[in-house]
Amino acid sequence: MARAADNNDLLEALMTGAAPIYHPNTGQCISEGEEIRLSPSARAGLEAPRYCQICGRRMVVQVRPDGWDAVCSRHGRVDSAYLVQR
Ligand SMILES: [Zn+2]
Repeated sequence: MARAADNNDLLEALMTGAAPIYHPNTGQCISEGEEIRLSPSARAGLEAPRYCQICGRRMVVQVRPDGWDAVCSRHGRVDSAYLVQR
């Protein structure tokens, strides 16, 4: 098993647009077929997710002037810099 620091599962899920299992803002389990409602700023990648969308764990989130990063102890770290499309 890879250590959390080497794990890119969450980043990969976000970058490939994989359907979240848990809501990134509320941590609620999303049932199949249910529509996910994100705030416009969250959808644009401007708002930091609070929960890991793969396991629903509360993430350690750090907001910076230029973005944010969020860490799930299981699924690794995501930085908003990776998600901003230019
Ligand atoms: Zn996770």
